[in-house]
Amino acid sequence: MAKAFVIDISKCSGCYNCQLACKDEHVGNDWRPYAAPQPRVGQFWLRVEERVEGTLPKVKIHYLPRLCNHCDKPACLAACPAGAIRKREDGLVLIDPDACTGCGACKEACPYGAIFLNGELGIAQKCTGCAHLLDHGNKLPRCVEACPTEAIRFGEEAELEDDIPGAEVHMPETGLRPRVYYRNIPGKFIGGTLYDPEAKEVIIGARCLLTSGGKTWEAVSDDFGDFWFRDLPVGVYDLVIHAPGREYTRFDRIRTDKSVNLGDIPLLPGNEE
Ligand code: SF4
Ligand code: SF4
Ligand code: SF4
Repeated sequence: MAKAFVIDISKCSGCYNCQLACKDEHVGNDWRPYAAPQPRVGQFWLRVEERVEGTLPKVKIHYLPRLCNHCDKPACLAACPAGAIRKREDGLVLIDPDACTGCGACKEACPYGAIFLNGELGIAQKCTGCAHLLDHGNKLPRCVEACPTEAIRFGEEAELEDDIPGAEVHMPETGLRPRVYYRNIPGKFIGGTLYDPEAKEVIIGARCLLTSGGKTWEAVSDDFGDFWFRDLPVGVYDLVIHAPGREYTRFDRIRTDKSVNLGDIPLLPGNEE
């Protein structure tokens, strides 16, 4: 049965403890035959990726810890001419530091950028799943243990089966069947602030209707004049804003490849029809 990681993005506070714990475990520590020491600089076997959505002042940030996916069909393994990469029975993919020639074929083949070359030792290196710990009585890798919010779970895929349905993997189109699953990655947002240009006051309680592909979402501007549509799929949207005693305002073909802050929107007095 294969091991897997499940990372709940809604629980990740971006504290970087996992990234630091990985470095603490591997920098300067020789865990042969699992891994040679990671150099002090230049390698991140786990990297916390910061995603910034929107523009000031409507900005949302979330964090995605990225590490080797311990793929079920590892491209790195298939590419290694020295036979230095193996997939264990528990699914963890390891590079043997003594068999690796440092040719870099695995790094070229991995679409996730999970492999680093160690120029000094002349080898390729990456996350080991902390197999050296698991094989000696520890239940969890260091990054998992270090997470204060329990955002990262690790275990047999079967044990995690409640969490995996609905979770996403990074770039499923690679076809490598990654085993790091992400839950609750926020969708895109559309937001803005409504105001009366004459009174120079925000407009509260305006009805905002968003449509795309036959679906409709509704939001009402809050006490700050702000409206938000959150967790939207990438797509093209039309927005109509109605407020009593004001001309309706519309925005056509808003694209959500990225989240969109429509900024400060004046609603002029007039007939709302
Ligand atoms: S993420 Fe890259 S390095 Fe890790 S198993 Fe998959 S192909 Fe290999
Ligand atoms: S499993 Fe171990 S080697 Fe892999 S990212 Fe976590 S701490 Fe680093
Ligand atoms: S330790 Fe946990 S909360 Fe902190 S960055 Fe890593 S996954 Fe996120």
